[in-house]
Amino acid sequence: MNGPARMMERKSRMKVPSFDLKEQNQKLKEDLFRAIEEVVLSGQFILGEVVEEFEKAIAAYCGVRHAIGVANGSDALYIALVACGIGPGDEVITTPFTFFATAGSIARAGATPVFADIDIITFSIDPREVERKITHRTKAILPVHLYGLPADMDPLNEIARKHNLKVIEDAAQAIGAEYRGRKVGALGDVACISFFPTKNLGAFGDAGMIVTDSDEIADKCRILRVHGSRKKYYHEMLGINSRLDALQARILLTKLKYLDCWTERRRQIATRYSDKLAGLRGIALPVEPEGYRHVFHQYTIKVEQRAALKEFLSTHGVSSTVYYPLPLHLQKAFEGLGYRRGDFPKSERASEIVLSLPMFPEMRDETVDYVAGVISDFLKRSDTSAK
Ligand SMILES: *Cc1c(COP(=O)(O)O)cnc(C)c1O
Repeated sequence: MNGPARMMERKSRMKVPSFDLKEQNQKLKEDLFRAIEEVVLSGQFILGEVVEEFEKAIAAYCGVRHAIGVANGSDALYIALVACGIGPGDEVITTPFTFFATAGSIARAGATPVFADIDIITFSIDPREVERKITHRTKAILPVHLYGLPADMDPLNEIARKHNLKVIEDAAQAIGAEYRGRKVGALGDVACISFFPTKNLGAFGDAGMIVTDSDEIADKCRILRVHGSRKKYYHEMLGINSRLDALQARILLTKLKYLDCWTERRRQIATRYSDKLAGLRGIALPVEPEGYRHVFHQYTIKVEQRAALKEFLSTHGVSSTVYYPLPLHLQKAFEGLGYRRGDFPKSERASEIVLSLPMFPEMRDETVDYVAGVISDFLKRSDTSAK
């Protein structure tokens, strides 16, 4: 075997998961175990002081006055919507190219999700499409900072101001991301964060947070997460049980200290991918428009021959993921909304060509190079076979 062939032989045994927390948890083990021990010995497991401390830390991190810890990101969306006074008969404009919970929460609040197509370069809701969807029933716009890139908030806020609408950010994938100098969470009326374990700041189970500068919205959220009661056993509103566990809050407080480092490393990995993949025919790379700070929850490329590339990566030990294979307007659960294939061509197109590459802060440079090398081999091969 010659040098390069031997190298391929060795390389072909590399196993690259999409995401892996083992190394991070191993490194933080002492801190995390001490944090857990502290809560166990305190005997306070739901809400309480530790949760309040974490709420304050997240509010400060996002640059807003209030943070309300809840059980998960989906509940955060539902509670934020209800706190904004949204319910049956109301319409909320959102993107069809997102995780189900975005629109699922609108429907759960009794309102109607109204979809508006995306800009296929950034994957974010297109403000011009939003404006076309406004009716006398529209109450809010719910943009998603997909993959960690903020949506184009200035025009969205402008539309909202003009039509007296609320703006609710789905910041589940984007904690720490910035838009024109401000962090997500501080870009609308209220924002929702998820601490699902695979998110950029992940709990050891489900957890979520609502952040807002509005006293009124914050007050309603605080009540809604405890069955709508301010005073125990007296209920002002129809709320739910959606409280943040002290264990999760304590773990997240421990991890929050590292978030900016992890984000920086995600950005380095993204830059390295982009450098290695630049100029290759047949793929489009993620963008970071001027004035935006992407936190690369995902590094998502667009590739025509997605199925073939995914398979090729897999035979070389590399996992890759499709977020999301079916836009929400075509989901069976939303059949009743009456949308059809063809209604949102860019979202439909995105769902056919997106592919997210392995991305987690502990990924080594060599691993990034290996993944990029496999993609490059695939594209060069299919480029010559096309000639
Ligand atoms: C993860 C996610 C949610 C839901 O968060 P959970 O904590 O899993 O309920 C909502 N929206 C988007 C865009 C997400 O990625």
